[in-house]
Order: sequence, then structure tokens, then C-alpha cells
Amino acid sequence: MKQEADENLDPATEAKVWPCASHRSHTTIAKYAQYQASSFQESLKEEQDRIAAGAPKTDDSKKKKTPKTIKFGTNVDLSDEKKWRPQLQELMKLPAFARVVSAGNMLSHVGHPILGMNTVQLYMKVPGSRTPGHQENNNFCSININIGPGDCEWFGVPDAYWGVIANMCEKNRTNYLHGSWWPDLQELYDENVPVYRFHQKPGDMVWVNSGCVHWVQAVGWCNNIAWNVGPLTARQYTLALERFEWNKLHSFKSIVPLVHLSWNLARNIKVSDPKLFETIKGCLMRSFRQVCLSLDFVKQCGLQTKFHGRTRTDASHYCGICEIEVFNVLFVKEQERRHVVHCIDCARRQAPRLEGFVVLEEYHLNDLCQVYDNFVLHSVQGQTLPGQVPTPPPSSCTPTPLT
Ligand SMILES: [Zn+2]
Repeated sequence: MKQEADENLDPATEAKVWPCASHRSHTTIAKYAQYQASSFQESLKEEQDRIAAGAPKTDDSKKKKTPKTIKFGTNVDLSDEKKWRPQLQELMKLPAFARVVSAGNMLSHVGHPILGMNTVQLYMKVPGSRTPGHQENNNFCSININIGPGDCEWFGVPDAYWGVIANMCEKNRTNYLHGSWWPDLQELYDENVPVYRFHQKPGDMVWVNSGCVHWVQAVGWCNNIAWNVGPLTARQYTLALERFEWNKLHSFKSIVPLVHLSWNLARNIKVSDPKLFETIKGCLMRSFRQVCLSLDFVKQCGLQTKFHGRTRTDASHYCGICEIEVFNVLFVKEQERRHVVHCIDCARRQAPRLEGFVVLEEYHLNDLCQVYDNFVLHSVQGQTLPGQVPTPPPSSCTPTPLT
């Protein structure tokens, strides 16, 4: 529904509310482009007709009219390197910190595509198209370039205030993680939440820092491209990990497989920042402990794990029931002729002694031990640029077919 940037009205009652109404549908780039162009032509014609009739230029904000339903072409996938080669090559001219792929970007160490995060997405907009309030997946940073021709208006709140906004979401009958909401600015000011508000002109690149809560509205007709990046800093890693844990508590899927990523970081990069090092090492330690306890439990149940291995580009696994990331020890059960991966908790809920489950292992315990031990703090003197020389995967990690 098209609305003023300052407010979000309930379509039925016209009261100021936080929840945003929208319906989902699918279309093609060409069809949306047609809609976008005809919406522009229509608006141009309306304006010309008004001028011809001798009426002054209309000011939308002073005019009462019935709200119009508009369409927003979100999350158009530009990951196919064959289809979009010239466009993607153009983006490689950006400075390293903003590039889709770079050694200093944590998301380049995931080893597989996460659509829209380490690949590019396109957003095609008509005036009023809204991206409701959110933080990026697992608090990663994002890069957003407005291709134009129109402007976008941005609203941003620093990470430190996300909890205040989450509480305000509940008060306004929506949910911070699962809901779709457009904050009321006055309510934010009343709670002393600072809001940055600015226009993104064509050609402007917006950097959304780790954890920044933001919401965006198109002022004119425009297309934007966006992706995520993860600078190798203690702050980024910590915020990502904290959100990973928070998501678990609130049954919200973490799009970034942070455990898998942490092991890859340990393999690939040299860390000289003590805080970043300690935080990654701590995560590896807890992950290793979880692996050992899981394997012990499998043994106690009288089962044998099968070595499954994995290739470097295999996607990470998520529990088919609760969507938590499952690392290294996979509890697999055939359901409706599909092999479904379970986390240990969901597996035990179904079968306390794992009856009917096949347990697969992705890495040998020795390999994980080695990665853990070899991951040490590097002194700044002997420092090489992080991630410049990726180490090869452990030799025993050759894949075997799923049995
Ligand atoms: Zn589960």
C-alpha cells in the first residue's frame, strides 16, 4: 500500500500502526520492468493532464486520496555468473571492502552461495515500495547501490537500540524477527531512540554497518542492487554469533551457518586481533565439545557413525525440523522418501535411543583437532593479509555418497 514515508496506516482503520500489510507473488524481471515503466508513464500523464487543466503541481502530502496498492520487485536473484557476467565483473571494480567476493569478507569463506548474502540481488521499485524494518541476517553488513533514476529514503538506528525496538514491536502487536513492521518515528523519539534519515540518490552507495536497524522507502522509480559483507573484525564476528544464538532461542533460521563458517575461518585466515581470535577459538571449542558429546551419545545408543565426508563447496546442513545448523554429526532419517537431516535434540525427541536413525560424520575428529590446534594468534609483525593464502582442506575430507 502506498503511504507517506513518515507513517504507516492500517488500511482498514487508518490508525497509525507498526505491522505492514503485503502479499507475496512471483513474476519475471521483464514483467516487473513493464509494470514499473507503465506506472511511470501513468504518473507522467496524470501530471501533464493537471498542468494542461491549469492546476498547480500537486503536493501528495496535502492531498487525500484512496491508498493505492503497489508492487515491489524484491530479491531478484543475480547469482548466475553466466547470465550476469558483465554486470558482476563491473562490481569487481569496487574497493575490496565493498566487493561481493574478497579474502577479507567472512561470507567469502562460507564456501557455498547464500543467495542474496554472498551473491547479488536486485530490488525493482515504484514510489512507495517499502523494505520494512530489520537488521541484516546474523547482523552482517550490507552494501546497497541505487541505480536510479529515482531516490530512496533511508531510516537507520544504531545496533545498540535494537532491543528497545524489539520491545516496541511487541507493544505494537508485531514481532521483531518474524513480523513485518514500519516504525512510527514519534514513538521512537519518545523512547530516545536516535534515527538517521537520508536520501540515497542514483549512484549513491549505502553501507549498512553490523547490527544497524533500518527501513527503506522508494521516493521515485528506481532499481537497487545489494549484497552482504562481513569484515574480519571482532565486532562483526561477535554480533553475528550473538544473533546466531538469539535466533536459536526464537526459532528463527540463521541464514549464515556460523559454526561451519568459524571452522573455515580457522582453516583459511591468520588472525592477529586477540579479541577476534579468542571469540572464534571459543566458538570452535564449544562446537568441538558438542561434536564429542554427540558421538559419545551415539556410541551409548549402540550405533555406529558412518563417515560421510564433504566437499569444500557442499552446502551446510540445517535440521529439517527446527532449522538449527547441524555441524559434523548428522542424524538422518528417511521421511517420505527423502533423507532428512535432524539435529540431536529433534532426533532424540523422535527416538530417545535414536532408533531408526543413521548417523553420519562429515569430518574426522582428528582433522577437527588439527584445525583447532593450528588456529593460533599471529603476531602483527609476521602478519599477512587475512585470508590471502587459503589452506587446502584436510585430505581425508573426500566425499562418499550418501548411503
Ligand atoms: Zn532440530
